[in-house]
Amino acid sequence: MTTCYINGKYYPIAEAKISITDRGFQFSDGIYEVITVYNKKFVDLDLHLYRLLESLKKINIKINLNRSQLERISKKIQKINNLKMGIIYIQITRGNQHPRDHKYKQIKPNIIIYSIKKDLNKFDQTALKGAKATLYPDIRWLRSDIKSISLLGNVFAANHAKNKKAHEAILYNEKKYITEGNSSSVWIIKNNVCKTHPLTYRILKGCTRAKLISLLIENKYKFKETIFSTKELLNADEVFITSATNFVMPITKIDEHTIGNGKPGSISLSLRKSFIKAI
Ligand code: PLP
Repeated sequence: MTTCYINGKYYPIAEAKISITDRGFQFSDGIYEVITVYNKKFVDLDLHLYRLLESLKKINIKINLNRSQLERISKKIQKINNLKMGIIYIQITRGNQHPRDHKYKQIKPNIIIYSIKKDLNKFDQTALKGAKATLYPDIRWLRSDIKSISLLGNVFAANHAKNKKAHEAILYNEKKYITEGNSSSVWIIKNNVCKTHPLTYRILKGCTRAKLISLLIENKYKFKETIFSTKELLNADEVFITSATNFVMPITKIDEHTIGNGKPGSISLSLRKSFIKAI
């Protein structure tokens, strides 16, 4: 059975419990992080822990663990659960507060860390064929830069994708510009230039995005952080998404529209290879 860390103690997941007065449960007042473990290796661990601490700062939660303690616990969970392939999930909420009140007090945060097995190799097959995406309006709040556990907008989008038998929903804002995916960063390639949304409040600062940018620079690809429209997305030579579990995933169909020649783009596939090689 999976072991879960809660506030300094380790429990079998079936016995791992948090109070109903938890502000995460009542207000989504918390943040989370997902770190991939690939062949027992942590992927971009530093980037993820850094973003976790940034998210905490953004919502004014102070914890009594530092970066290296969070790393130590995550690695312990990976060992105890013998996780070879999958994710480490970290969630930190503001803590328990009764009676319920939107206004928060200085309380002790609830920290949970556990792991989930995932067969990430199955995505290799999807990548070789190319994945399908669907468009969905970005109805989320205006602080998508925070990795908040408040995910109803993303849940709506992901379930729209599920109903459309699509791998991911690609979100567009009120001006028909693409922001990001329901759980990914979105990229297009046109005339050999890779483009992705700039870092603003409207998107999450993807760790895979950051890693890919360094790979693009290293491999001398042309690259631009710029907004692009739904029309540019559909007319791109290549489209791909990046995330901790997808790595680099080519998109070959968006709703009824075929991207390029309907096959995964050569640049996208080569970036996926480089990314996996660099793990
Ligand atoms: N954008 C959103 C909304 C996400 O949920 C995620 C990951 O889950 C990403 C982007 C990609 O971030 P990362 O590459 O750090 O996984």
